[in-house]
Amino acid sequence: MATTPVSQELNRGGAFLVATSSAEDVFTPADLTDDQRLLGRTLEEFLAKEVVPHIPELEKHKEGLMPELVRKAGEVGLLGAGIPEQYGGAALDKISMTIVSEKLSAYPSFMVAFGAHTGIGTVPIVYFGTEAQKQKYLPKIAAGELLSCYALSEPQAGSDALAARTRAVLSPDGKSWLLSGQKMWITSGGFSDVFIVFAKVDGEKFSSFIVDRKTPGFSVGAEENKMGIRGSSTVPLFFENAAIPKENLLHEIGRGHIVAFNTLNAGRFSLGASCVGGAKNILAIASKYAKERTAFGKQICEFGLIKAKLGEMALKTYALESMIYRTAGTIEAAVASAGTDKVAQAMQVLEEYAIESSISKVVGSETLDYCVDEAVQIFGGYGFHEDYPVARMYRDSRINRIFEGTNEINRLVIIQMLLKRAMAGVLPLIPAAMKLGEELLAGPSFEEPPAGPLAEEERSLAQAKKIFLLAAGAAVQKFRDQLANEQEIVGALANIVMDVYAIESSLRRAQKSAAASGSSAALMSDVVRAFTYDAMDRIEKEARTALAALADGDTLTTQLAALRRLAKHAPVDAIAIRRRVADAVLAQDRYPFDGR
Ligand SMILES: Cc1cc2nc3c(=O)[nH]c(=O)nc-3n(C[C@H](O)[C@H](O)[C@H](O)COP(=O)(O)OP(=O)(O)OC[C@H]3O[C@@H](n4cnc5c(N)ncnc54)[C@H](O)[C@@H]3O)c2cc1C
Repeated sequence: MATTPVSQELNRGGAFLVATSSAEDVFTPADLTDDQRLLGRTLEEFLAKEVVPHIPELEKHKEGLMPELVRKAGEVGLLGAGIPEQYGGAALDKISMTIVSEKLSAYPSFMVAFGAHTGIGTVPIVYFGTEAQKQKYLPKIAAGELLSCYALSEPQAGSDALAARTRAVLSPDGKSWLLSGQKMWITSGGFSDVFIVFAKVDGEKFSSFIVDRKTPGFSVGAEENKMGIRGSSTVPLFFENAAIPKENLLHEIGRGHIVAFNTLNAGRFSLGASCVGGAKNILAIASKYAKERTAFGKQICEFGLIKAKLGEMALKTYALESMIYRTAGTIEAAVASAGTDKVAQAMQVLEEYAIESSISKVVGSETLDYCVDEAVQIFGGYGFHEDYPVARMYRDSRINRIFEGTNEINRLVIIQMLLKRAMAGVLPLIPAAMKLGEELLAGPSFEEPPAGPLAEEERSLAQAKKIFLLAAGAAVQKFRDQLANEQEIVGALANIVMDVYAIESSLRRAQKSAAASGSSAALMSDVVRAFTYDAMDRIEKEARTALAALADGDTLTTQLAALRRLAKHAPVDAIAIRRRVADAVLAQDRYPFDGR
């Protein structure tokens, strides 16, 4: 498994913007081991046998059914996926965890309940718990004897989580914390036994606590009436001087934000991985229907505009999947090369790759939303009817852009983290921007035209990175430490960053497949050509919008001329490519690059 990055520079979060990777540096689905593939099949069977038959009852909130099914996942060892072996867990590697998120997403309500328990409801104890807390909770969480969840949001504090009003004060006898306040939107809160709750000690110091369901003064509100993921539980929580033992403080007083945000980094990546599964699933459903349905004496899949949809769904899914498995491989390699205290180091690794986690979340949720929307369109009127599966999938997908940090917040995080790392000298963005400035001043270079397969895309990738440096450099020069207030510019920069990561991950995977004479290598190269072609247009547009807000007159004219030069790329017959990709989808009624 070639996941070990070639250099320290390449190993840093966000380094893809300045470093040159090669195909061997990038993990792809073709690198999955036999055991990991077997895990994927086991998960598919588990979901198909134990969960899917119950979807109608789950959607109607049949009392006790969801917790029963989550516990069933415990019987086959899935609930301890992220828990170390000494506490009864399976301590799965990051790539296997990615497979779990992908495969269980075929029914999003189940994935959300599973993720609340094994992810955000468990990660805080694994990484920040004391030895006593780990011994008390983790074996029971791994076995499904206790179900857990994560309570950060409040009615007045969602994105602005640190504005929480829930308070914790020490009881007069010094033995308990007394919690008062309200939490909102808590996934699986209706049936969980253990709650990771965030509250401010003395109304000031943001901290985290483990709260047991039976705590006096703690109560759980009624289920919310939601647009989607209706099979999952979402409730408010109420605390009225709820007394929890003093030893249930998690981590340190005033350090709750470290627990909250690092846990969210892990959750964001998993959300992106689950969207890969969702996108593959809806593509298969859309493909089958496009063959069954006839209009004007033809199967609708024969129409160019329907093929274009299936082709584009597969293209976007390929790019997302390439990014997700690349990131999983990078994180796994970093954890594997960490010292002996892997648990402590894993948290640092999650922080290191916060940029890639936010990218996974945003691209994952927007790719899935795109795919479900097009699937509804392919189903026509039947796509708008609840008797057909795409209506629920359309509703279920929408939440992904909202929770685990909205996509607006995650776009801000991407640029904020990049700039922070650049200023700290961790990422050499500033020297790279200065070098680009010199290059542009020197005028056009008469480079050899690219040669060989995907050489044009390789060139575009290098140019896309320069476009980011051009736009980001201009933005930092103009606004300096006030750039965060210019959110539209920050959003445009984040969009460029995401497309750069998508192009590079897609390209490296296709190159790796070609080098291994993979059976899908030619089609993959096609996909990369069409994806890169479109992505370069998007990147140019985002950069143009940002530059026009940053300069005017001669300066703007010069910058736009440089942009045009950098964004130049040879035309690609993207229509023919989408048709070929759609034909590959239709041939098997499935995403054509699975496991490749
Ligand atoms: C079904 C469901 C399940 C959930 N599960 C959980 C859970 O298990 N645990 C938990 O703690 N929370 C959970 N949440 C809460 C979720 O994380 C929040 O809804 C989310 O963080 C957004 O917060 P908000 O709803 O208060 O929206 P707001 O923060 O009010 O945001 C409203 C809009 O303003 C934008 N906005 C806010 N601040 C900024 C800014 N600085 N710049 C630009 N735009 C901004 C947002 O992007 C959004 O578009 C869940 C929510 C839902 C709906």
